[in-house]
Amino acid sequence: MYHADKFYLNGAWTAPAAGGTLAEIVNPATEAVIGTMAMGTAEDVDRAVEAACSAFPAWSETSREARLDLLERILAGCTARKEDLAMAISAEIGAPISLARTAHVGLALAQLDMVVKTLREFAFETPHGSNTVRREPIGVAGLITAWNWPLVMVCNKVATALAAGCTVVLKPSEIAPLDARIFAEIVHEAGAPAGVFNLVQGAGQVVGAALCAHRGVAMVSFTGSTRAGIEVARNAAPTVKRVAQELGGKSPLIVLDDADLGTAVKTGVMQLMMNSGQTCVAPTRMLVPRDRYDDAVGIAAAVANGLKVGDPSDAGTQVGTISNRQQYEKVQRMIGIGIEEGARVAAGGPGRPDGLAHGLYARPTIFADVRNDMTIAREEIFGPVLAVIPYDDEDDAIAIANDTDYGLAAYVASGDTARARRVAARIRAGSVRINGASTDLSLPFGGYKASGNGRENGAHGLAEFLECKAVIG
Ligand code: NAD
Repeated sequence: MYHADKFYLNGAWTAPAAGGTLAEIVNPATEAVIGTMAMGTAEDVDRAVEAACSAFPAWSETSREARLDLLERILAGCTARKEDLAMAISAEIGAPISLARTAHVGLALAQLDMVVKTLREFAFETPHGSNTVRREPIGVAGLITAWNWPLVMVCNKVATALAAGCTVVLKPSEIAPLDARIFAEIVHEAGAPAGVFNLVQGAGQVVGAALCAHRGVAMVSFTGSTRAGIEVARNAAPTVKRVAQELGGKSPLIVLDDADLGTAVKTGVMQLMMNSGQTCVAPTRMLVPRDRYDDAVGIAAAVANGLKVGDPSDAGTQVGTISNRQQYEKVQRMIGIGIEEGARVAAGGPGRPDGLAHGLYARPTIFADVRNDMTIAREEIFGPVLAVIPYDDEDDAIAIANDTDYGLAAYVASGDTARARRVAARIRAGSVRINGASTDLSLPFGGYKASGNGRENGAHGLAEFLECKAVIG
């Protein structure tokens, strides 16, 4: 059993203020309680922000070398404890252990490394004629993270804020508190000065809301649902904070008529199903030429039917569970709505996969005959559910791709890279990947429209935590 009963405040593990409660940590594969966690209050947030405010003057004036030194020790600490981190992520969100090791922890380490490289080269002061533009840390940063790629978000936000010279209060997801606690231990071991990094667990409506409203917090960097992102901005508005929002998505994959259909469809389905479809940038709408539609649906169904869904602790498992019961019920409800609205189930469907009687397992599901105005094409499901939509020509495909409230990511498959780039230029989304290209962590990451505001990663991400000052004369 895990006992996550203390918060990390001002350099020490500290008992919560009076009035907090205890919540259960549940393993979604067994649905057994595997631990308890303290849920904080506004008073815990006050203590954390006070510590971060006290530490800010000294940390904001540290040299680039001192910050690099701390970040490199944190990276070394995470590397040394990568198996603990992978086990925690697999237990708390039901990610297959192989995915937890390679993708969850692997990407988190790569993010830390990317922040180190960015900080080495970042220009905090640039001449502008005879004047100077200085980039200075904005102040205390409140960091609020989601459960789906929990460690990646924690590492990226904390490391980037510290690199900028900010001090931080982290509120990780209440669904995935364990990896964040190990990370806090690593930061402590790495020798972060007291108050530079603080951790408070708790509910979004309580701890998250208090952090957003707090006068001592200069900026909130939030990753989560669009619903909560709106609340964050509302609560932050009276204190005129900066708010960075990384929110939901309903990302299209346009398979152009000159693409290798088999490769494009298979790549798209695999990118979506990884992490049980619980990825903000997952390609959840597959747009295919009408005259190749039946073939595309057949290939997608065969790929989905071939996935090995099961026990996350089994090294051969490709798809684990949905991470919590509420989300599991949402996925099941959305599959039901898809059927009610007339979409055809080409693979998967409601309920659990055969042979899995317990645990929050969903069936990798392919919906055919989907129109872009159906609920399953408009709302983020956040599960292993693909909508395959036919289009008539390139203009029609681009119109369908852009006909969404979201704008986080998009994907284009084509035999002609120049053509794919022309299509990419017409899509309203923060990133467009061509022919299954893997991401480059130094590139800006973020969304258009209801997918958010601001950019993470690389120099763009670091700049989010900085104020800009003109020194004239
Ligand atoms: P969520 O919005 O329920 O919770 C995210 C975090 O916000 C949690 O820590 C939660 O406690 C907190 N929170 C909830 N209500 C709050 C409030 N009123 N004030 C302050 N904090 C609050 O999201 P989730 O279910 O944990 O994650 C899934 C969502 O995250 C999906 O919509 C997904 O697309 C999105 N996401 C986006 C990105 C991105 O980079 N754009 C990355 C990963 C996940």
